[in-house]
Amino acid sequence: MKDVELGSTPIDKLAELLLPDRRERLDEVIDWGREVLDGRTVWHVNATASGGGVAEMLLALLAYTKGAGIDSRWVVLDGSSPFFTLTKRIHNLLHGSDGDGGALGEEERELYEEVLRGETEHLLSRVEEGDVVVLHDPQTAGMGRALREAGAHVVWRCHVGKDEPCERTDKAWAFLRPYVEDAEAVVFSRPAYVPDWVPEDRVRIIPPSIDPFSAKNEDMDRDDVDAVLERTGIVDVPGGAGSVKFSRRDGSTGEVRAYDDLVHGGQVVPADARLVLQVSRWDRLKDMDGVLRAFTDHLDDLPDDVHLMLCGPDVSGVSDDPEGQQVLEECTKIWEDQPDEVKPRLHLCSLPMDDIDENAHIVNALQRHATVVVQKSIVEGFGLTVTEPMWKGRAVVATRVGGIQDQIEHGENGLLLDDPHDLDGFARLLAELLADDDECRRLGEAAKESVRERYLGDLALIRYAELVRDLLE
Ligand code: UDP
Repeated sequence: MKDVELGSTPIDKLAELLLPDRRERLDEVIDWGREVLDGRTVWHVNATASGGGVAEMLLALLAYTKGAGIDSRWVVLDGSSPFFTLTKRIHNLLHGSDGDGGALGEEERELYEEVLRGETEHLLSRVEEGDVVVLHDPQTAGMGRALREAGAHVVWRCHVGKDEPCERTDKAWAFLRPYVEDAEAVVFSRPAYVPDWVPEDRVRIIPPSIDPFSAKNEDMDRDDVDAVLERTGIVDVPGGAGSVKFSRRDGSTGEVRAYDDLVHGGQVVPADARLVLQVSRWDRLKDMDGVLRAFTDHLDDLPDDVHLMLCGPDVSGVSDDPEGQQVLEECTKIWEDQPDEVKPRLHLCSLPMDDIDENAHIVNALQRHATVVVQKSIVEGFGLTVTEPMWKGRAVVATRVGGIQDQIEHGENGLLLDDPHDLDGFARLLAELLADDDECRRLGEAAKESVRERYLGDLALIRYAELVRDLLE
């Protein structure tokens, strides 16, 4: 088990962006939280400190709670590779996907419990009676019972789910149920994800949120965007790049490094190309290769200046993400099979993960540079990769699945594809949007306001505070 270092962000900074009534509510819960949590620690436990939406949110939210004077800690599990293969299987099943098709029987339960027994022991040596422990996702659910027995208040936060339950989700829930039942409260991103056996009074719905001041979302002007993309060798911006600074979560300033190999095959994006961008982990359910196929199959329907970029974390040499490597290889193969005149319009980009703030800042610049951002997920828990570009005023085309449907109202603040497997329909939506600059602008502006109303971090903080109040009162 490892501790993740947390920054500390003054909560007033966030409040500046809010409408007055929300600001007041935030002040109220923070005052209350300080009082009632005095002498207690709030622990968060999950499987990874970087990559993916959960890590992204924890970094931001916990920095605000620390800034508000609440003793918050974040620890990540040390699991074995078979353990993570098993938990990825459960994760995929909860999304309704067959994943690796492996079993979820007694042997798997033994493995799961054995790994978590060791991890829980570590945590128990630090957690005090009366502390609050928030366990995130299937990887940690099995830690709840021992923590409760030791006098901690235990919440299980599930970040995944599927709109309609099915045999596969039932299989995963049958495995998880005994652990989930140990938690005093269970948090989901959407009501549709709550299994029917969870007692209503234990359920809370807290949609994910973004931090407008993180390296991922902080404001950048056009010159900053150009400088980041030039320095990282992703876009060929004329004029050369100077030094590019960004804010780190610990309050310090970082500097973007120069690269010359982030884009596969050296296919740097020309400065005047309009970019269609998908940023995702190389996960099959994000359908990176579907985006590539839709784009290449319908290239003739798209204006000549439109290019596609698929961008995800660098997975070379990462042993715990075999699926990521496979998906990237499949996309690379599709690229290699294209005619020579098509290849320069397709860009596969792998971003280094050794400095998550730098990674975030590059994603920030890319999302701001893109003309249209897409998220063609087959299933999606929530989809921060939709929220982030919406906050940046981008027009987003995404599939009508999971939390994306809560975020986008078709034709109002983005476009939705009804059937995630409909490549033709996807290309059609893209072509229509790329032919209409005014529509792109209108959707982007509406997108930004809808994120301000619903998905900035203050709402999540308020809801977590209300949950803790209910547990402690
Ligand atoms: N992300 C990133 N770098 C990458 C790929 C993804 O920082 O190379 C981030 C992305 O910006 C978002 C998160 O990872 O903040 C993905 O969250 P989302 O909810 O979209 O999907 P998840 O990965 O949790 O399924």
